[in-house]
This record gives sequence, structure tokens and C-alpha cells, in this order.
Amino acid sequence: MKEPIITFKKVKKNYDETVVLNNVSFDIEQGKFYTLLGPSGCGKTTILRLIAGFDEASQGEILLEGKRVNDIPANKRKVNTVFQDYALFPHMNVFENIAFGLRIKKVSQTIIEEKVKEVLKMVQLDGFGNREISEMSGGQRQRVAIARALVNEPEVLLLDEPLSALDLKLRTDMQYELRELQKRLGITFIFVTHDQEEALAMSDEIFVLRKGKIIQSGTPVDIYDEPINRFVADFIGESNIVPGNMIEDNCVEFVGKSFECVDGGMKSNESVEVMIRPEDLSLTTVENGKLQVKVDSQLFRGVHYEIVGHDDDGNEWVVHSTRKAKEGSRVGLSFEPEDIHVMRFN
Ligand code: ADP
Ligand code: MG
Repeated sequence: MKEPIITFKKVKKNYDETVVLNNVSFDIEQGKFYTLLGPSGCGKTTILRLIAGFDEASQGEILLEGKRVNDIPANKRKVNTVFQDYALFPHMNVFENIAFGLRIKKVSQTIIEEKVKEVLKMVQLDGFGNREISEMSGGQRQRVAIARALVNEPEVLLLDEPLSALDLKLRTDMQYELRELQKRLGITFIFVTHDQEEALAMSDEIFVLRKGKIIQSGTPVDIYDEPINRFVADFIGESNIVPGNMIEDNCVEFVGKSFECVDGGMKSNESVEVMIRPEDLSLTTVENGKLQVKVDSQLFRGVHYEIVGHDDDGNEWVVHSTRKAKEGSRVGLSFEPEDIHVMRFN
């Protein structure tokens, strides 16, 4: 394996008594798109600040390209940050905003002009150099902020919830653009969001955080299909979760029946949580269903109906179906063994 570009080894961060990061360890490979995903306050910004060098770890080691950087100041790290509020200078035009860092480094005017022009092209703002920041839309300001970071030719770009201020349509467009940009440049992106759909759409790898800990890491598909526990299952996508019990390696019991499943690794007799995604359930007749539920309500969501019902044990079941159901009726639910995902409690 290639040497990771960033490594955290048992990093802790606390402010007095408050533990903000608790034994965080990970490796970041060069050239991939990583996302830190988790609810507000779980420590995402803190991790970026430690990578950038704006804050110091209380314990543990941070390595950049294999070298310990705990004591290396921010301006000596080949890392740049795009902040949540973009932090652009309102009294400078686009060109000067981007050129600012290069001027501080005393780069010559000719080179500055060349480099600014180049990054403006990268973010598709060719010819916008003379515009004032106040004349730029939200999406354009976003791109100026990215251009300003890219002009320093960082090896790692840190992006702290850069899309959260944009409206839905623009946000979706920018998701594609950022992903394309990352692929084109081949530099490492570490992107922070609390939006699971954004994380799934954009990332090579996702780290799911909760209360200062990484509780699962993996590709979007791994995390969606095989969440490690109820928190991840609920946080990423919609899920039906009911209590169950392992009978054997490939057999699990829930709602009073046993079902074939393909999830291994659990002991027989172990109490588990059983998850099935709403889109993996389909409506059928009561006789043909593996489970039977009474339909409580149904909403038309455009791409599907969202049908909510309950089984005889009182568990709620959400089904995404292209077929309608009748409120108050009893229906059967069918699903395949591979749609059953078994999780340990916690
Ligand atoms: P996120 O970006 O995931 O929303 P942060 O990394 O900003 O979370 O913060 C994680 C926790 O650390 C929060 O509970 C926050 O209140 C706390 N925190 C962050 N900075 C400081 C600070 N300078 N002093 C005390 N607590 C802080
Ligand atoms: Mg934050």
C-alpha cells in the first residue's frame, strides 16, 4: 500500500474537561475524496483544524506524508481550507481575493497573474477576475473560495460544509462540480458535511462520526448496505429496524418467524437488531407475504409511495412502493434473504 498522506494515531482533543475527540485513528490515501459525516457537534471541524494546524492535539500523533507534524505550523503544511462561510475579503475583487496568499509569499506579479488565471479557469470563472465579491452569487463565491485555496497548490484540500449555505438546486450542481474537480486535479479532498445524501453521492470513503469518535468508515455502498449499528443505519438513509435473535449463522428470527439471511459473523442465540431498507420491501398479498402488516398511512412522494404500517408485534414498517395500498387494509411484505441486515446492539 502507498504511504498514507495523512495519519491520525489515537488523537485526543479536549478543552479542559470537555472531550471533543476521543482516540481518533485513521489513514487518508492520496488522491481520494473523503467525507467526514456526522451530526452537529461531533468533532468534524475539530479534525480539519488539527489537520490544517489551526489547533493542537491534546494527545496522539498526526502525520503528514509519514512525518509527525504536531509541532509544524499551519503555513508550513501543504494543506488548504475552504471555510463554511468562505471567509472572502469583501473589499477586494475576485482576482485580489485569490492572489492574496501569493502576495504574502512575495510571488512576482507575472506569476500571480498566470496562476490566478489558471485557477479561475479550473473553477469555471474565467474572466471574472475584476468582479467585486458583492456582485457574485452564492455559488460563484463558493468557487472563488475554492480557487483561493487551489492557487496555493495544496496536496490536501479541506472543505468544511462548503455547500450548506446554497439552495438545493445549486447544491446538487456543486456536488457534481466538486467531485469532477477532485477527479480532474487528483488531489486529496477532505469534505465535511452533516448531509448523508451529499456524503453518499460524492465520496470515495466516508468516516461516520459520533461524539468525537469514528464509528464506521468505508465506501458509500458499504456503509449504506452494512451499517455497523442502529445509529449509522438511521443516520444514513431510512431503515426499518426490529429486534431479533440469531438462530444459526444464516438464519435469524424476528416478528415470531425465522428467516434465511446471508449475514454471517453472529453467534447463535445472540440478540440482534434486524434492518431492512424501505426500498427492499415490496407489497404483496397477505398469503404471499413473508411478513404481514396493517397499513396506517401512505404518502405520495413522486418516485414512490411511502407506506407506513405495523405488524402484530407493534413494530413499524416503512415501505417504498410504486404500488398504492389501502389505508386500514392488511398486506403482505416480501423481501429477499440478502436484503436482511443483522446488526449488534449498541
Ligand atoms: P462539528 O464541526 O462536528 O459540528 P466541532 O468540531 O466544531 O463539531 O465541535 C465539537 C465539539 O467541540 C462541540 O461540542 C463544540 O462545542 C466543542 N468545541 C469546539 N471548539 C471549542 C473550543 N474552542 N472550546 C470549547 N469547546 C469547543
Ligand atoms: Mg463544524
